Amino acid sequence: MAVRAILVERTNVITDNKENQNRLAAIREFVQTIAIPAEEEVVAKNRIPETIVDVMRGNGYFGWSIPKEYGGSGLSTEELALANIEISQAATAFRARAGTNTGIGSEGLIQDGTREQKDRWLPKLASGEVTGCLALTEPEAGSDATALQTRAQLKLEEGEKKFVIDGTKRYITNAPIADLFTVFARTNPDDLSYKGITAFLIPKDRPGISAGPEHRKMGQAGSPVSEVYLHNVVATQDDVLGGELGKGFSTAMKALNKQRINLAALCIGPAIRMLDEALAHVKKREQFGKPIAEFQLVQAMLAESKVEIEAAKALVLETARARDRGEDITTQASICKYYASEMCGRVADRVVQIFGGAGYCADIGGPIEMLYRDVRLFRLYEGTSQIHLLNIAKRILK
Ligand SMILES: Cc1cc2nc3c(=O)[nH]c(=O)nc-3n(C[C@H](O)[C@H](O)[C@H](O)COP(=O)(O)OP(=O)(O)OC[C@H]3O[C@@H](n4cnc5c(N)ncnc54)[C@H](O)[C@@H]3O)c2cc1C
Repeated sequence: MAVRAILVERTNVITDNKENQNRLAAIREFVQTIAIPAEEEVVAKNRIPETIVDVMRGNGYFGWSIPKEYGGSGLSTEELALANIEISQAATAFRARAGTNTGIGSEGLIQDGTREQKDRWLPKLASGEVTGCLALTEPEAGSDATALQTRAQLKLEEGEKKFVIDGTKRYITNAPIADLFTVFARTNPDDLSYKGITAFLIPKDRPGISAGPEHRKMGQAGSPVSEVYLHNVVATQDDVLGGELGKGFSTAMKALNKQRINLAALCIGPAIRMLDEALAHVKKREQFGKPIAEFQLVQAMLAESKVEIEAAKALVLETARARDRGEDITTQASICKYYASEMCGRVADRVVQIFGGAGYCADIGGPIEMLYRDVRLFRLYEGTSQIHLLNIAKRILK
């Protein structure tokens, strides 16, 4: 009976299977016919052409995770994971362009925003008119995000509460093109714990906020990342995410908890793409008078990659379903992010090996060299592998 109940519940997670299948087929078509053919241009110009961004807006890619009442698609965690696995088969820049709106740039607002804040921002984030970003990391606060030094000093002006924000954020995805910054700052200077941190919604035209020059990254060309400078930025009580002081870190953790499942799914797409590229290559490339697909040591690398991709997919989709059922998936989300990002790194390394010199030289081997560099970031951001291992160990030792 209990098993039956779970099965019934599970079939309800993907709200409309046909709609979901159609969406995935349409994303696949976008990836194959628009995104992958534009990869070289994206790398050369370090930007996704605006015409393609418009297609992404029109296709609703910016609103996947935003509730339907605010103009988004209201995808379940599982549906979003499946969509992310598809779109991330093109170069990372494509999914990163819309990904802050369907992830860290909107999730805090969805989880903890006031009705007014949601009404003001979510429809524009869902349509892609506005690009969001999440500004947590700082030069001296990376893995230890609670050590952030950005200050929001409370001032009373003619009886009205105002906050003056000063600080520097680092490595902020989409900051150079963002219209809305979710900024984390310490509102209680006497409380150096997470409880002294508050999240603010700051529009880009607010005096005193600016994005620095783009970081020169190892990979992910076309996905702009930079520092964010906050100099005497004045915020009001209306800009406090959720309206309550001291809740910022809990909002960030809620957003990141879901994002870890998203990111794990986004690690699976590139691994599938690289394995597909490798499968095509091994049938064409001949050495010692036969296709290298016939060599068992090459076959082992292909099979190991396939096994790990399937394992990651099963893990991520099961965790997504558990989240949709309302279960606490904090440990599982860390496991997903750790396993899928490390898996993707291993697949990338094997695929370069399978391509030989062509895997190292972009002009000979095509996208493999780029993809290898692109996926290296996955093991670093949104919690490094070491931080996730520590989290997992801490929670299972409890
Ligand atoms: C391209 C890019 C985009 C990013 N986008 C965003 C964004 O949009 N918003 C945002 O807020 N941040 C963003 N980040 C920041 C990212 O989340 C941090 O880089 C990450 O959390 C690691 O922090 P750090 O780089 O300061 O490394 P550090 O914290 O300095 O870590 C360095 C090394 O020490 C290890 N280490 C640290 N503490 C421990 C410990 N306690 N035990 C064991 N090992 C430890 C780490 O695992 C790592 O190997 C981005 C980063 C990059 C590079």
